[in-house]
Amino acid sequence: MSFDTLGLHDSLLKALAETGYTEPTTVQAQAIPAALAGGDLMVSSSTGSGKTASFVLPALMRVLAARAAAPLPGPQSDSARPDRRRPAHGRGDGGPRAGAPGAGAGPRILVLVPTRELAIQVAQATASYGRHVRGLRVATIVGGVPYGAQLQALRGPLDVLIATPGRLIDHMASGRARLDQVELLVLDEADRMLDMGFIEPIQHIAAATPATRQTVMFSATFAGFVGRLAGDLLKSPQRIDVASHTEAHADIEQRLHWVDDRDHKNAILDHILTERSVEQAVVFTSTQRDADWLADRLADMGHHVASLHGGHPQGRRNRVLQGLRNRQLRILVATDVAARGIDVPTISHVINYGLPMKEEDYVHRIGRTGRAGRSGLAVTLAERRDSGMVHRIQRYTTQRIPAATIAGLEPKVAEARTGPRPGIRPGARPGGPRGRTGGRPGFGHRPQRP
Ligand code: ADP
Ligand code: MG
Repeated sequence: MSFDTLGLHDSLLKALAETGYTEPTTVQAQAIPAALAGGDLMVSSSTGSGKTASFVLPALMRVLAARAAAPLPGPQSDSARPDRRRPAHGRGDGGPRAGAPGAGAGPRILVLVPTRELAIQVAQATASYGRHVRGLRVATIVGGVPYGAQLQALRGPLDVLIATPGRLIDHMASGRARLDQVELLVLDEADRMLDMGFIEPIQHIAAATPATRQTVMFSATFAGFVGRLAGDLLKSPQRIDVASHTEAHADIEQRLHWVDDRDHKNAILDHILTERSVEQAVVFTSTQRDADWLADRLADMGHHVASLHGGHPQGRRNRVLQGLRNRQLRILVATDVAARGIDVPTISHVINYGLPMKEEDYVHRIGRTGRAGRSGLAVTLAERRDSGMVHRIQRYTTQRIPAATIAGLEPKVAEARTGPRPGIRPGARPGGPRGRTGGRPGFGHRPQRP
């Protein structure tokens, strides 16, 4: 399978080849032709499977089609001269566009994402795959940064707008963001946006776009509210379900260490982080305070480390991510929201120092490693009181996380090594069928560890 067969323009194929992509991922092979056909899509596919290109490439095809219909003025053309007058729309199509002063024509493509980091990542991918699209105009509208540059971007002509819902709503309220030219609306990580309370902003934003638009929605799940939102926003969507959260993360080895207390946890963490196999690691904590505290502790030990969480100003967050990308940092200590969308292929380890609040977040966390065809190791450090969440994660992924120990750092409570299994003891049920091997349906076998 090669990209040539998907119906993409030569300029995009060229950019993909330059990026080093030789063949589409499974979700790309399915979603790109479906999106090019123009219908609505609901897509679920595991993290790291290449969803970004699945919507960015069809989006760029729309930009190319628009360019073919109305080419940009060339450098020699009269209309390229600076001209402060409002451009004429003299084709009886309603004349000059209305809207607040300073509102531009509005984007053809609108991509909604849950976080700033993800917005930046999608913008980078768009610029990269669109590097041969002449005069491609991409803007991001995200919270936590000054309004000035965003207003500037909204004033000019725009092809692709990538936005977090909250800040986009602000710009809509002031009349600065016009969405009546949107041909394609993309919702990336829709489940996450709903978790963050963005359901009303999303509905409001979608209502401001033309009803004739194409809508493509990505979500880990289409259960519950996400499914209802999909019902509201999508017109007889095609469903593409490449790999659900229950799919084994083939490139990610998972391990579980039961720990007695915080000291024991720190000792295991220190042991893992000093291993040579750790190229770069993301250590997740449950709270912002823990992230700062742990980063300080690891820095004191001589690690190249920084913390990343939503309490930090955007400038700092950008610098930290840059430091991770250019390998000045070996360890990142992060909270869930902040780590969303981090795409650094050299992350070899994900360590769950504090467990996530939601089982979905476990899947998103471990997806920070094992990217772009590399393998990764995801280690969870769990105290006894975390056993409920460990079970919920295992039920959610329908996979057992194999328990492991480190020589000299075994947990004191022997039972904890494979995790407590309350109420389930093979053969304990009176009158139960004798031949049954125990264990719960849907789970793998207990690991044969001592
Ligand atoms: P997702 O959104 O599904 O989590 P991304 O779109 O962020 O995944 O892609 C994950 C990684 O895979 C990125 O580093 C991206 O550059 C890389 N990638 C995407 N498509 C391909 C491809 N066809 N061939 C090789 N690498 C790819
Ligand atoms: Mg993604």
